[in-house]
Amino acid sequence: MPNHGFATKRDPQTLDGCGSPGTNGASKSPRSDYLEPPRYPNPSAYGIAADYFERAIEGAQAWRVRARAIPPKLTIKLRVASWITALVIYCWAITEVDGNWLALPGLIWFAIPALTESVIATIEKSHDKKLKASVFDPEYNPNPEGWLAYARDCAKVDGLLATVFVARTGYRYHTRSWCSSMSSPRELPRYKAEAQGYTPCSHCGFRLTFPKLLPPPFGNGDPAPK
Ligand SMILES: [Zn+2]
Repeated sequence: MPNHGFATKRDPQTLDGCGSPGTNGASKSPRSDYLEPPRYPNPSAYGIAADYFERAIEGAQAWRVRARAIPPKLTIKLRVASWITALVIYCWAITEVDGNWLALPGLIWFAIPALTESVIATIEKSHDKKLKASVFDPEYNPNPEGWLAYARDCAKVDGLLATVFVARTGYRYHTRSWCSSMSSPRELPRYKAEAQGYTPCSHCGFRLTFPKLLPPPFGNGDPAPK
């Protein structure tokens, strides 16, 4: 099972006014000790090709180091040349124009480098477009619905495997050891806590339901699918 690095880390956010857990203790069934941990789903069950993740990661890495249409050194030379050209035209124009057109040399000085930047950007954009169409597309996903369902279910498993904290008394589990002023809380995976009848703390327990962000290359900090 590839590790997708779903973030299940807890935000270092302090909690105030966290409700104290109830005193009617949860039924702590010993059978949860023998529970099988939840398994990550098989991508092929969602119609996702077995090598898709490897291809997507490779594609994203190759994309990051792709060749530019204009080599970086040439880009710098073009920028310097555009500034020099603009300066020469400016110096010439400032002596030629009469009082009514004094703004024109300044405009030229600004416009030539700006035009150069926009030409460079246009060339790079069209180069990237061609690369995506012909060579590879790191964002290419043959089965977006399958991927979203798979990501959602992986996130659920991540949440079930994450560590939660329970107090000696009470029936809530917490994602933060300092929530509700617990003293030396017990740590256990969330799936075991749920099997023992604990329910999520309304202040911090919800955080493990879904990770908030999907990591690259599967998302650029996009919200996790609902
Ligand atoms: Zn809590």
